[in-house]
Amino acid sequence: MTFRATSLSFLLLVLGCSDGTSSQSEDLKQSKPAKNWSRDVVSTELDVDLEGNRATARIEVGASKRTGVSFEVGDLSIESVRDEKGPLPFKQDGSRLDIGYAAKRSGTIEIAYGFRDHTELQGATSKGLTFTWPSFCGNLFPCKSDPSDGLRFELSLSGVPSGAKAIFPPAIEADAPAYMLAWAVGDYTEIDLGKTASGTSVRAWYLPGEKQATTKGTAHLRDVVEWYEQTYGDYLFGDVVGSVSAEWGGGAFGGMEHHPFWHVSRGSMGDEETHAHEAAHGWFGDGVRIECWEDLTLSEGTTSYVTARALEATAGKAAGDGVWASYEQRLDSVVASQDRVARPEGCNQIDVLNDLWNDVVYMKGAFFYRAVEAEIGRETLDRILAGFYAAHREKAAGVDDMLDAIREESGFDPEPLADVWLRSLGRPD
Ligand SMILES: [Zn+2]
Repeated sequence: MTFRATSLSFLLLVLGCSDGTSSQSEDLKQSKPAKNWSRDVVSTELDVDLEGNRATARIEVGASKRTGVSFEVGDLSIESVRDEKGPLPFKQDGSRLDIGYAAKRSGTIEIAYGFRDHTELQGATSKGLTFTWPSFCGNLFPCKSDPSDGLRFELSLSGVPSGAKAIFPPAIEADAPAYMLAWAVGDYTEIDLGKTASGTSVRAWYLPGEKQATTKGTAHLRDVVEWYEQTYGDYLFGDVVGSVSAEWGGGAFGGMEHHPFWHVSRGSMGDEETHAHEAAHGWFGDGVRIECWEDLTLSEGTTSYVTARALEATAGKAAGDGVWASYEQRLDSVVASQDRVARPEGCNQIDVLNDLWNDVVYMKGAFFYRAVEAEIGRETLDRILAGFYAAHREKAAGVDDMLDAIREESGFDPEPLADVWLRSLGRPD
């Protein structure tokens, strides 16, 4: 895989230099590190040494209208920055890294750095996991945490403690948000849950003492993944997928959409809804990225809705009804205690973790779709969701794109339902 990335970046470098007319001035411009967030990150290849807490990132970037390239680098210690031609000038300004790089140039920038283990879920953790949502990727690798920015990944890990197993994707060959990449190192046992009709192998990895919970929580996971594939479209991030038990500590619940090996907190390994929810993000949230953090309900609300549908389809009506009954409670509880507007105005003007992320984006989003379903029918809504996935997979989209898709495909105007469910406080009757 290193060979493929190197030859590809070499090719791009040659293409980038073919514009000889301005090469001299461009070379002068790149002599100074410059702030530039607009340059596209195409792919990131990481070689990580877990023992030494050091890594090398080879980041393929596109050409830009402006000189320079910037990355979020959190609390990383940047050691060197170079490309095929040699060292590149750089400046680390707190959590921002600016690199001198000619505007029209494209190619691969190699950054060597050290990273720290964290006790909180903010990068690499002292428990052998990584967690970078929403904007902690900079504590793990030079990145852009903007959720609309999609990139491909390669990852290799060395220094894995003897006796431990590292669960991570060596390659992600479709555009994904920066927060999707992760690894988990621990005393894992693998369960093979079988293949879907499309040939996707579904598995689970659990920690000591979790066999029973994992068997219960993943009882329908193969069927759930198959249902997503058949209802919404082919999976993007590889042909082996599964749930990985995550030692988040402190009786944590929930999971994180680190596809293709999404993490499920130890406290939720027995919970079918959590497994099905994280799996669904392969289609909505990761497969189709959100345009702005304000669009979070397009990820969490859509995922919550399709999770209930998948469990009803695979585990039976009682299971689906059970999910909706729990959603009812969650909705009432969050509206009573921490009500918010599910889709606030603006784009990337909020601190998503503190200003938006709570059960509102999950539950009001799920009930919005349920209300749309009541108007247009299940089959039509599924067709709309499948068409939306086909149109926007590997790209970013917003809530308004979904409203447009509903209107165009069904003729039903979803705006009044969006107003009450997604743009207002309270719970509609
Ligand atoms: Zn989620």
